[in-house]
Amino acid sequence: MNKIYPLSEVWFVTGSQHLYGEEALKKVAENSRIVADSLNAEAGIPVNIVFKEVVTTPDSIDEVCLRANNDANCVGLIFWMHTFSPAKMWIRGLTHLHKPFCHLHTQFNQDIPWDSIDMDFMNLNQSAHGGREFGHICARMRINRKVVVGHWQDATVVSEIASWTRVAVAWNEFRSLKIVRFGDNMRQVAVTCGDKVEAEMVFGISVNTHGVGDLVGVINEISQGEIDDLVAVYADSYDIMPGLELGGDRHGSLREAAQIELGIRKFLDQGGFSAYTDTFEDLHGLNQLPGLPTQRLMADGYGFGAEGDWKHAAIVRALKTMAKGNDKGTSFMEDYTYHFDPAGPLCLGSHMLEICPSIANAKPKCEIHPLGIGGKDDPVRLVFDGKSGPAINFSLVDLGNRFRFLVNQVEAHTPMVDLPKLPVARVLWDVKPDLKQGAAAWILAGGAHHTAFSYSVSIDQITDFAEMAGVELIVIDEQTELHALKQELRWNESVF
Ligand code: MN
Repeated sequence: MNKIYPLSEVWFVTGSQHLYGEEALKKVAENSRIVADSLNAEAGIPVNIVFKEVVTTPDSIDEVCLRANNDANCVGLIFWMHTFSPAKMWIRGLTHLHKPFCHLHTQFNQDIPWDSIDMDFMNLNQSAHGGREFGHICARMRINRKVVVGHWQDATVVSEIASWTRVAVAWNEFRSLKIVRFGDNMRQVAVTCGDKVEAEMVFGISVNTHGVGDLVGVINEISQGEIDDLVAVYADSYDIMPGLELGGDRHGSLREAAQIELGIRKFLDQGGFSAYTDTFEDLHGLNQLPGLPTQRLMADGYGFGAEGDWKHAAIVRALKTMAKGNDKGTSFMEDYTYHFDPAGPLCLGSHMLEICPSIANAKPKCEIHPLGIGGKDDPVRLVFDGKSGPAINFSLVDLGNRFRFLVNQVEAHTPMVDLPKLPVARVLWDVKPDLKQGAAAWILAGGAHHTAFSYSVSIDQITDFAEMAGVELIVIDEQTELHALKQELRWNESVF
């Protein structure tokens, strides 16, 4: 079966013990293989689910955990207690384990066989209490983990596992993600700054700066032939504004955008970078701020943050990875301006240029307009409206003593009227629980004006991600109430 992440594996490991005899252990192994193979065959599961073994001793548990740590393709594990697996046996292995795991609290049979059930059946199918023993030691050891409860063939259980595996892949990638910054931070801006050393210690992401001149050097090596080919792709993919087309008086700017795109792409690929930042304040040698190039690179899965914002470049990449293969749209985003209509307050999300066309509701238009800041040439950009539908805005901020994730559930709307004078990509949304409380909550929690916006990644996935990283998460959704949120912020100051 073609997997969305063909190299990534989640190891399926079953806990048991020797108390029940070899026959029982054989049955446990047989059932485990059936469960693992069935999960692996599910079309919605994007990774390879690989049955490893039934572990019955502290040594075998430790050994499989150490092997998982050292296997580059293993992004996480599923543990199932088919029978009772005395949990002191798990202490050493879990102490060593550095990969995330999902505790699948299931049992082989869906129903109790009322007519035939006897003590042998009960002893073989006792995950109801075996899983509690395992849960206790994880709780006692203060280990973050996913717990999924239900029969393994249940569609909800499969989809919870699938969604968690996507996060595990993104987390595994995060452990060694390389981000390049072309130039430093936008001058004087607070929230886009942060502790890059701490970020590498907590998340694994490495963030390093290159002078924009290094990038310009690569851009200048791009050949005319490569530019011709890419401009042809633009013409096929977008509605090109009159003047930008081949032979048009501004066609040179489109060629320049293509050259910049090819140069950035080459720089990223040569350096193994999966995300990047730039800033309009440092464009020496570049005639225009990369608009179209950044939009297209995001559409291909690269993370991006504007104005030197490496934290949002990192999480845009993480969400792109989680959404891979069925992305309904994921982009760098900014809360731009409000519509305070009492009948339906909305926020207009956009950026100066850099919004990913994966969120577009129709074929984007390719246009050129002045930027208004930065003093460079007019940049080429894609202009479009975002789709309607539920989405999230996700932010990572540095509070000095720790990182905080914030996520807000929103309901996005394609703008209902034309915006003939707004030459940028945009989307409207309705903040949960409502704009008044949702924006207050975001501001109280110190969330950035930049976010990673996605129609595909859920708050449950962000929760899994925060738990894998061991960082604080503030959720703003339909249930948010400001007094409770203020208490949560105060208490978290102690917890973290
Ligand atoms: Mn910005």
